[in-house]
Amino acid sequence: MDTAMLIGSRFEAGTEIEENILNPKTGETVLHLAEASLGQIDAAVDAAEKAFKGWSQTTPGERSGYLLKIADAIEKDALGFATLEALNCGKPINAVLNDEMPAIVDCYRFFAGAVRNLHGPVAGEYIPGHTSMIRRDAIGIVGSIAPWNYPLMMMAWKLAPAIAGGNTVVFKPSEQTPLTALKMAKLLADILPEGVVNVILGRGESVGNALINHPKISMLSITGDVATGKKVLAAAAKTVKRTHLELGGKAPVIVFDDADIDAVVSGIRTFGYYNAGQDCTAACRIYADAKVYDRFVADLSSAVSSIKFNLADDTENEIGPLISKRQRDRVESFVARASEHTHMEITTGGKVSGDKGFFYAPTVIAGATQDDEIVRREVFGPVVSVTRFTDVEDAVTWANDSDYGLASSVWTKDISRGMKTAAQLQYGCTWINTHFMLTNEMPHGGLKQSGYGKDMSVYALEDYTAVRHVMINHG
Ligand code: NAD
Repeated sequence: MDTAMLIGSRFEAGTEIEENILNPKTGETVLHLAEASLGQIDAAVDAAEKAFKGWSQTTPGERSGYLLKIADAIEKDALGFATLEALNCGKPINAVLNDEMPAIVDCYRFFAGAVRNLHGPVAGEYIPGHTSMIRRDAIGIVGSIAPWNYPLMMMAWKLAPAIAGGNTVVFKPSEQTPLTALKMAKLLADILPEGVVNVILGRGESVGNALINHPKISMLSITGDVATGKKVLAAAAKTVKRTHLELGGKAPVIVFDDADIDAVVSGIRTFGYYNAGQDCTAACRIYADAKVYDRFVADLSSAVSSIKFNLADDTENEIGPLISKRQRDRVESFVARASEHTHMEITTGGKVSGDKGFFYAPTVIAGATQDDEIVRREVFGPVVSVTRFTDVEDAVTWANDSDYGLASSVWTKDISRGMKTAAQLQYGCTWINTHFMLTNEMPHGGLKQSGYGKDMSVYALEDYTAVRHVMINHG
């Protein structure tokens, strides 16, 4: 197992306090990893600064070549990466291997192609005797901070567009899930010039805080909690750094009376509980038309009770545990508070599962209303609420009545109704008759307190590059 941070071309252990890295399936310690000192953080930033001069002047074609090599190397060792990710996050191995790994490899390949094909306005003489042209250039050093729910994929979403755009990066994984980032550090050091990517370890309040306040960093990219995003904004304001914020979500799902209920049930069984619901786009807040509500709740509860988890043969598991005891306690307390209200009913799940690890049974809470905490706050666990509506206008109003604005879906056989509703929803993404489907060609990112800035797609490349105007006076 790779355990060292990458600073320039040096592999180093951190020198400060140690973090306990756990296996969420058992609760046992995998190993201890020490976090970076302030000196090591400075050294990583200095290495990125030194590398920027050369890397930012490479051609898109050269950077594309590096990204393709990274993609090939990850693909070659996909089982090794997936095994480590499964160990550190508790994810079922098949989910990582078959869903995440191909998408991660494809992310590097997508940006390898996209950077060679950027578009912009035509050069021309907009003032007589002067030719103007638009450039898209690197921004500088990017401080990248990732969460624990998809560690390797978030690293890909952040690194690929940043380095494709000619920036250099200091990357900090979540203190809870650093193992695949450390394996990536080894792979990246073999392929990239020294200092283009640096990987440092540590907690948010110490290492993360030092990174977001570092005067030499030009851009901060963070995926995490809304509260963390606000701290990043406050730090960025001091030196006017660019920010790219992917924060939480509470995705509404509108189920109209003409929806294919079997398809909705099957969709929510998958997209509401994937990754044990630790997903900012999870289909967790359902509004079902009163005409189909009873059947929908019954069928969904039955389907959710069949989700396989915590089985000895991991290849049979559909979902894993929560990431930590703390996260499971949090989920448990949301459900406990909901169950105190008589208008809500827990139709399946609603309990901790197993005597080791951090498992929580997939849960459906029926009868929730718009003002209930379970409808308003992000649980980030395997818990889906269902709310009944009789007026379509209410469904759209309630769906939009949220601090979040990341993802949403609409289920109907009437495509005009689907399109009209999609146009009214204030979310970065609206799916019609599906949910959660991501593709590297299309952007992912939020509105409102879900943040701003796009991951994936050419829009991410735009976020990680600066538009510049160069004008020539013909004299
Ligand atoms: P978190 O905000 O606690 O941590 C995310 C990262 O930020 C970690 O690396 C952490 O060390 C760091 N961090 C924490 N405090 C910091 C500080 N003061 N300064 C600098 N860095 C700091 O979030 P989490 O618990 O790891 O992840 C779950 C959250 O992430 C959820 O709210 C979820 O919705 C969100 N999320 C959003 C997306 C998206 O695309 N919008 C994707 C995945 C997760």
